[in-house]
Amino acid sequence: MTQPKNSFPNIKTMALVAHDQKKDALVEWVQAHKSMLSTLTLYGTGTTGGRIANETGLNIECLKSGPLGGDAQIGAMIAENKLDALIFFTDPLSALPHDVDVKSLLRLATLYNTVLAINEASASLIVSSLE
Ligand code: PGA
Repeated sequence: MTQPKNSFPNIKTMALVAHDQKKDALVEWVQAHKSMLSTLTLYGTGTTGGRIANETGLNIECLKSGPLGGDAQIGAMIAENKLDALIFFTDPLSALPHDVDVKSLLRLATLYNTVLAINEASASLIVSSLE
């Protein structure tokens, strides 16, 4: 849900997304935090979510692949107050065909004050605050 300003966010739903060069890192991060993440309702873009389901056994609802609208679906969840947190391992070194979708998703997460991490260190801090 939209995080009220100046209050400690309550996280029950989380989306997990990683660009191709960051998918291994995200799967490894999810594995390391599996027990905490298993208490949340998880969503992922198609390829990322599929890998997480297969390689960690976690229950995760897979949306469309990011370049085919998955980022937009997650943005819509944020706009509809259906998502509490977004972990998005972005790739700062590659040009992406769906860059506009990525920007839109990050913009909406900022606009709606959604808990957001775009790298591993920040994601770990978020999860550790839930433990
Ligand atoms: P994917 O999408 O998980 O389907 O690869 C990620 C992305 O937004 O690029």
